[in-house]
Amino acid sequence: MDIKRTIVLKGIAVSPGIAFGKVYILDRSEVQAPLYNLDQPAQIVSEIKRFREALKKSREELLEIKKSLSEREIEPSFILDVHILMLRDKTLLNTTIENIREKKINAEWALKLTLNKYREMFSKIEDSYLKERISDVEYVSQRILRNLVGAKSKSIAEIEERVLIVSRDLSPADTVQMKMDRIMGFATDMGGKTSHTAIIARSLGIPAVVGLERITREVRNNDEIIIDGCDGFVIVNPDPEVLIRYEEKKRHFEILEEDLLREAHLPAVTLDGCKIGIGANIEFVEEIPTALAHGAEGIGLYRTEFIYINRERLPTEEEHFSNYRKIIEGTKLKWSTIRTFDLGGDKFISDPRVADELNPVMGLRAIRFCLQEIELFKVQLRAILRASAYGKTRILFPMISSLEEIQKVKSILGEVKLQLARENIPTGSIELGIMIEVPSAVIIADSLAREVDFFSIGTNDLIQYTLAIDRVNERVSYLYDPLHPAVLRLIRMIVESAHDAGIRVAICGEMAGEPAFTLMLLGLGLDELSMNPLAIPRVKKIIRNSTLEEAKALLKESMKYDTASKTEDFVRGYMNNRFPDEFYFEKA
Ligand code: PEP
Ligand code: MG
Repeated sequence: MDIKRTIVLKGIAVSPGIAFGKVYILDRSEVQAPLYNLDQPAQIVSEIKRFREALKKSREELLEIKKSLSEREIEPSFILDVHILMLRDKTLLNTTIENIREKKINAEWALKLTLNKYREMFSKIEDSYLKERISDVEYVSQRILRNLVGAKSKSIAEIEERVLIVSRDLSPADTVQMKMDRIMGFATDMGGKTSHTAIIARSLGIPAVVGLERITREVRNNDEIIIDGCDGFVIVNPDPEVLIRYEEKKRHFEILEEDLLREAHLPAVTLDGCKIGIGANIEFVEEIPTALAHGAEGIGLYRTEFIYINRERLPTEEEHFSNYRKIIEGTKLKWSTIRTFDLGGDKFISDPRVADELNPVMGLRAIRFCLQEIELFKVQLRAILRASAYGKTRILFPMISSLEEIQKVKSILGEVKLQLARENIPTGSIELGIMIEVPSAVIIADSLAREVDFFSIGTNDLIQYTLAIDRVNERVSYLYDPLHPAVLRLIRMIVESAHDAGIRVAICGEMAGEPAFTLMLLGLGLDELSMNPLAIPRVKKIIRNSTLEEAKALLKESMKYDTASKTEDFVRGYMNNRFPDEFYFEKA
């Protein structure tokens, strides 16, 4: 009898849920590019033609995937459009054609050289999300390459059984097809938390574990596996006892998720009547349906710098406008907060106007960059003002550190408004807000509050600047502590200043989406929380099942501790006991 060995592999949990079933190995190994030299001018012409045809074929394939998705009424992912657009990217086209012409080499190798150029460019990016966007260029290049060499690879749509996919890597185009083909989960050797494949898996609700490094070497077709997308495990050939345990875990997870989603649309009101506004943080307009499905009332933070992804130039006014209008005119959102460009620092920009800096996080970032490049700033402001004619708009300025900055911003905004009025272009009313994410802004929050309609606390940066910890430096990440007494005291100061001046105050840093901190934030008096959409149902449920009085008492107790770790132990212990279902998977 063939007794199969049980193996447990640990990877990165990117999309929660438990799935078990048979493995289907999808071969996504890289196509190797051949190299040969061209010695006749006619060969050069024919290679360029071949390259253009491969681009066309790749585009047709992606359009076909998109079509079949919409035929089945599945929202095609925005990332398919990004890939389709990339196939028309001038740099990709021209650099490859130039390589063929000048180096007299075949199309496959010429494309490979273009890809190397992109890899070099992306390797210099520090922001991990943006750095990972190279994977989109790689997926598109692999598709072109496959068409150039005539390699046929099986598409997800051709798989007929209900299976779990195991692959070296999966493209976002692979992932979007999973929904219609009832693929129950996937596990890959490669990938990270912020890859688009991971983002799509989350939005489709398919359990997924990536970054397993060697899963393709450990399993064969038809092996039984369990994918645990909650904790990042894959169990190959589980014994019956483990299987029973996971069946139980799966049942529990599904009941909790169903309950959460069913209630996600209820308002976030405490038992004693305190209403908290709940917003979603988004990077792409296409995330709005997911945000709404998870119970977002508005958009609390739209990081507009993401419009800049995969581009060499800043967007035009029309490109800005069409993005903002899509958000603002959506009737289901009660408000939309557009944050002006937060470029520079750890955020990607290849524009020569942002010079290489020794210490970019303290450098020409966010509002500082916009105030230096006023014409460019005005393009964005015009677009936001124009879009404001279509619905309730809030504008948010990042990284304000002095009163003069917001006064200057307001005067530029006034000029832009006047100009639009002269051109008879309609605008709507706009609420003005600033991010409070630099300690100096906290200290002068009372005077800043007189200038604006609301504050939004950017705890990601506020923690970085207050505790002097680079937020992307993993060597000091152990010090990055949202519950550091200094951070809590600063938040309290901000809320007091805002409320004294009669304005609202939100938090839009990651801290807002951490359910263990929800009660503390309520106790601190926040009016609004904005977070990653998936976190919303759990946070709302906690709010609905507590009172403001309890939150204040918890806060008072936790502020007595003098270190972050003591505070955290206390708060997590309290929340685990108080909301066992909401923290079930953290304890498991
Ligand atoms: C923050 O700093 O907390 C924030 C929300 O902005 P970002 O993460 O985009 O800097
Ligand atoms: Mg910030």
